[in-house]
Amino acid sequence: MQLTFDNRFIRELPGDPEPRNFIRQVEGAAWSKVSPTPVRAPRLLAHSKEMADRLGFSADEVASDAFAEVFAGNRLLPGMEPFASNYGGHQFGHWAGQLGDGRAISLGEAVNAEGERWELQLKGAGQTPYSRGADGRAVLRSSIREFLCSEAMHHLGVPTTRALSLVGTGETVERDMFYDGHPQMEPGAVVCRVAPSFIRFGTFELPASRGDTALLRSLVDFTIDRDFPHLRDMPAGEARDASWFGEVCERTARLMAEWMRVGFVHGVMNTDNLSILGLTIDYGPYGWIDNYDPDWTPNTTDAQRRRYRFGQQPQVAYWNLGRLAGALSPLFGGVEPLQEGLQRFVEAYTFAERDAIARKLGLAECRDGDVALMETLRSLLARAEVDMTLFFRGLMDVDPVSPDLAPMAPAFYDPEKRDADAGACAAWLAQLAARWADDPLGVDERRERMRLANPRYVLRNYLAQQAIDRAHEGDLAGVHELLDVMRRPYDDQPGREAYAARRPDWARQKAGCSM
Ligand code: AMP
Ligand code: MG
Ligand code: MG
Repeated sequence: MQLTFDNRFIRELPGDPEPRNFIRQVEGAAWSKVSPTPVRAPRLLAHSKEMADRLGFSADEVASDAFAEVFAGNRLLPGMEPFASNYGGHQFGHWAGQLGDGRAISLGEAVNAEGERWELQLKGAGQTPYSRGADGRAVLRSSIREFLCSEAMHHLGVPTTRALSLVGTGETVERDMFYDGHPQMEPGAVVCRVAPSFIRFGTFELPASRGDTALLRSLVDFTIDRDFPHLRDMPAGEARDASWFGEVCERTARLMAEWMRVGFVHGVMNTDNLSILGLTIDYGPYGWIDNYDPDWTPNTTDAQRRRYRFGQQPQVAYWNLGRLAGALSPLFGGVEPLQEGLQRFVEAYTFAERDAIARKLGLAECRDGDVALMETLRSLLARAEVDMTLFFRGLMDVDPVSPDLAPMAPAFYDPEKRDADAGACAAWLAQLAARWADDPLGVDERRERMRLANPRYVLRNYLAQQAIDRAHEGDLAGVHELLDVMRRPYDDQPGREAYAARRPDWARQKAGCSM
């Protein structure tokens, strides 16, 4: 088993000279050298075949004991140089100081046969200088959630960090989910997540907060050179930095439009959890919208303020970009280039949202009236308690000549609310059909466009929970099947209707689980 590594992050950026295992403030360094803490009995529980192929692992290699050992953190491959990276962040609107990889350990940057760079990062492989009071471990429950959702998002076409493997550690982890006044012992696991870059907004905020402009400068130069190679040829200077920041704003805007398109709620949009590449990163208490509710948040600790509710995500992303702009300001002579970058967020979000509206409603292009049409639909869906995924998927089966609500019948949660709003829904549908009549797309073309924008399968919270419950009994089949269903979210998969069903009553608004 062999990979080629080119560990640029630690080669080109200043590192921390101290020995690893004491927890502290790390100044003047972007990373610390660490070693994963071995676990008792690593066992591969699941893996992404697509990601394994991408990295060049054969099926035999994946099945070997060595694979489970490497991706539990018990053994290193030649070329791996484990490190934890240093960053800060704004959490829930407040500057939180140094955070860093408290339970993530990067093994190195693998370069595959196609020349793609993939950083491999273990989550839950033990303490680092950034662990603060915590154990550096992850429980099986949260690891299954991260593993499944990373791959589900990828197959939905949403930019995301990936997951290569889910390895059980054979050890338990203590978590303070107090039932009967006792902490819970839970099975532990390690996910190997994979991305071209794990650099976050908070990576830049930390040196900026300390007045360390030299490190900030190095980080920006490094990020542009490694992660934005198309900007590499611009001469170093403000114009290049401004183009880069503007592109970060655009990528973040496109990501937000994608979350809103599929009904994903991140739940902890702190600046340490926003990727510089516009990838979905850090799957903690995330959740998926069942009944359309812009105020829903899966984060129980955010239940009061609802800062990270579904409908608020684009605004929060913009706020976070403002923090990044503030951090970068020492590199600019004035604020205008940064303000222009932020404006690119607004424009890119508007563009991406309009594109999503056209695709979801089956229109060749989005006119101003279509934005209003979508707005009306959103209020209707919220008021009548309608399942977002089922409703939009049903729309493609509506007969344009005599439209009726039948294809969307399974989307309604409450018969009384359905009946109360049946007239308004029918009127809305008639408006859409009239709009279709004034649109150049043919019937088949329209159906296909809608199919590809409106998934049939999403990783509903209760589906993930059922797979977790089975895994806790030692049965991984639920995880494997769910992973397989989520591979083709836009296809009808005969025999798998249960995975596309409306959330059952018992699972109503269950908050997701973090840690
Ligand atoms: P999050 O809200 O998941 O982004 O986590 C915020 C910070 O807490 C990050 O710096 C994490 O690395 C750290 N953290 C979370 N859980 C643990 C843990 N079990 N052990 C060590 N650090 C942790
Ligand atoms: Mg995080
Ligand atoms: Mg987390």
